[in-house]
Amino acid sequence: MFSYWEQQSFAHYNHIIVGAGIVGLSLAIELRERFPHSRVLILERGLLPVGASTRNAGFACMGSATELLDDLTTTSTDEVIGLFAARKKGLEKLRNRLGDDRIGYKADGGFELIGDREYHLLNRLDELNELLKPLTGAPAFKPANDRIADFGFAGTYARALIENTCEGGLHTGKMMRALTDMAIQYGVEIKTGAEVMGFEEAPAAVSVTVKDPFRKAEWLLQCDTISLCTNAFTRSLLPAADVVPGRGQVLITAPIPGLKFRGIFHFDKGYYYFREIDGRVLFGGGRNLDFETERTTDIALNSMIQADLEEKLRTIILPGTEFRIDQRWAGIMAFGTTKNPIVKAISHRVYGAFRMGGMGVALGSDAAYRIACIIQENQ
Ligand SMILES: Cc1cc2nc3c(=O)[nH]c(=O)nc-3n(C[C@H](O)[C@H](O)[C@H](O)COP(=O)(O)OP(=O)(O)OC[C@H]3O[C@@H](n4cnc5c(N)ncnc54)[C@H](O)[C@@H]3O)c2cc1C
Repeated sequence: MFSYWEQQSFAHYNHIIVGAGIVGLSLAIELRERFPHSRVLILERGLLPVGASTRNAGFACMGSATELLDDLTTTSTDEVIGLFAARKKGLEKLRNRLGDDRIGYKADGGFELIGDREYHLLNRLDELNELLKPLTGAPAFKPANDRIADFGFAGTYARALIENTCEGGLHTGKMMRALTDMAIQYGVEIKTGAEVMGFEEAPAAVSVTVKDPFRKAEWLLQCDTISLCTNAFTRSLLPAADVVPGRGQVLITAPIPGLKFRGIFHFDKGYYYFREIDGRVLFGGGRNLDFETERTTDIALNSMIQADLEEKLRTIILPGTEFRIDQRWAGIMAFGTTKNPIVKAISHRVYGAFRMGGMGVALGSDAAYRIACIIQENQ
């Protein structure tokens, strides 16, 4: 039950965005830039975002060499190049918008450890560099085998090392803090603990039903447009969406004195990733060990994958080094039949920007920009 005052002043918005992840926050900023007098509201079901944006590894990555070569076997060359370009543009937008200091961006480079299974792909690096040259100018991938020993990795796994000159790492917490601060500074309203239960489009407006657990009530808000930035959870609002959840497992060590590497690292076609942050090692991945279980929106640990991460940390990344695991967590990504995100008008008043895969840090700002352009064109 609304009061008169609530009904008058809190029930009508120009643009409602569902989801306060990277995409939702970036879209809110884009919309306020385009429509400075509009009311923009973000509805987020969690106290904090509850998907991937505050739970990822902070890789501002374009894709490892073997991942891109693998993509070329299943996807058209144009699509692979297009996705690389979108990630590059998104990262540039994020860095320009917030500034490297505020997001803790470090251009220490990206590296891929090449094991026996991928070794044969090394002779295709020139081909890949040539394909990407219009975007990167200089060759994006180059051998860096001489650094394997310096970094202290187990030579028994890492037969080669490839450096990707386009990649960097950022501090996910700082980035999300900065995006949230900027959205607030831009006059965006953010309501947390506000789960959108459904919406109905009419010719003049969209009615949005929001659950208020404290009042044990459902609110009906009205808006001109609604944008679903709900990534892995989109099917609860759009059941036909081509979105499959994929859980990601992560652990972080206590600080390790004398840690030998900086930068971001991938191996096994991007299924595993690790980096240095604050003198610690953050390590995640292993979804490919148990695809079935990890196809879930349940944010929980998978003990088998966590044990595998610990074992690989001990034998591949930190052989002979003592370490202690400080924290473990999981987050939920969104995948589908292709790697491209879905960014489109679903109808005149309903828009979607979701399915960011394992790439939303770089891709999220570009997806938000593109959906904002579509909304603007349709107004
Ligand atoms: C473990 C892990 C590691 C990763 N590492 C990287 C990495 O290093 N680099 C990289 O680029 N990407 C990485 N990713 C992926 C990246 O984090 C995502 O692509 C990105 O965060 C997606 O952002 P988003 O805003 O689309 O979705 P999300 O951050 O998932 O936000 C969607 C939001 O919508 C909200 N929501 C959903 N339904 C409703 C509803 N009905 N009502 C209200 N709110 C709702 C959710 O609560 C959620 O907060 C990783 C992901 C995980 C899980």
